[in-house]
Amino acid sequence: MSSYQLLSDARALLPETVALRRALHRQPEVGNHLPHTRAKVLAALDGLPLDLHLHETTSGIVGVLTGGRPGPAILLRGDMDALNMPENTDLEYASEFESTMHACGHDLHTAMLVGAAKLLSARKDELPGTVVFMFQPGEEGLHGARFMLDEGLLDVVSPRPTGAFAIHVTAQIASSIVSHRPGPEMASADEIHVTITGRGGHASAPHLAADPIPVAAHIVLAVETALTREISALEPVVVTFGKIAAGTTHNVIPETARMEGTVRTLSEEVRSHVHVMLDRIITNVAAAHGLHAELDIVPGYPVTVNDAGFAAFVTNVANDVLGPEAVVELTAPIMGAEDWSYVLQKIPGIMAFLGACPPDLVPGEAPNNHSNRVRFDEDAMASGIALYAAVASEHLNRAGS
Ligand SMILES: [Zn+2]
Ligand SMILES: [Zn+2]
Repeated sequence: MSSYQLLSDARALLPETVALRRALHRQPEVGNHLPHTRAKVLAALDGLPLDLHLHETTSGIVGVLTGGRPGPAILLRGDMDALNMPENTDLEYASEFESTMHACGHDLHTAMLVGAAKLLSARKDELPGTVVFMFQPGEEGLHGARFMLDEGLLDVVSPRPTGAFAIHVTAQIASSIVSHRPGPEMASADEIHVTITGRGGHASAPHLAADPIPVAAHIVLAVETALTREISALEPVVVTFGKIAAGTTHNVIPETARMEGTVRTLSEEVRSHVHVMLDRIITNVAAAHGLHAELDIVPGYPVTVNDAGFAAFVTNVANDVLGPEAVVELTAPIMGAEDWSYVLQKIPGIMAFLGACPPDLVPGEAPNNHSNRVRFDEDAMASGIALYAAVASEHLNRAGS
């Protein structure tokens, strides 16, 4: 199919895509259970020739479009969940709820994926293979993609999909510019929780107590030092303690101190190394002072690793369908995390960023994703729809050729 036709057909879908996006934006839902969002998506998909699978452990929806010719399968994802935060954009379609906002653009992802399902359904007969549409909840820290994998996402077609593609909008990039990179694109993110236990007492007589507060301070510094001595300078890693809590007043030594932090890496090897290192430093620094410390690591998302071949393929497709200037390589990975990483551990594919900076703002200065003031250029959704559809159909076609 001609790529020009694909983009103009995607543009024709823009009004209904914008309407769906705004309906989702007005009523954002958070987490793995998004009943109203699911109902809106199902209504939008109604009438399309999709085989629908409604997941039970989450509000996930899987739609399968079987093309008119035999061939492989590809998986396309749009995430559907919002964030617990107020919205302060003054948009006419701003959140109707005080404490939830679609501040990461997942409303655009969902609407674009519905648009792609429409576009590809209209071309069903000429598709050489199968397209699996994954509408996932719980991306914002709740492992929605993992739940969907556990519930058989990849077994919905046999054999399994041979490619996987997701788009994430960002207000930091000019509208409709596509950006991605081969290899690690986003970080792993694990939570660390530390409890240091000493012995409380009078602040005037620390020698009679076992004070956890200086130990907490030593631990922060020892961890940051150890990172620079133990991990190669060429391996990005971030450990940030975002919270330290201890004590009640000025003249009491508390019994315990608690610390919380995040560990971000760009390789699974470094990730495991840092986990072991943290445990060693934290327990032994406390022991050196005669106190006891315990570390609890809550594993978050793995590193998001783009397949190099698939990344190059998407670059070609994007240049073809959106124009030769449409792709700008992402020069460095981002230390945020994505649960699309779970899918990319199983199927070669990528996540591409799609610029959606509003025309009245400047990329790089516009409010970022997760800001209470973030806005996105809805016109970029036409590019997103065309890109989803083109990547899917080209993947099926190249496999068959
Ligand atoms: Zn987010
Ligand atoms: Zn997101």
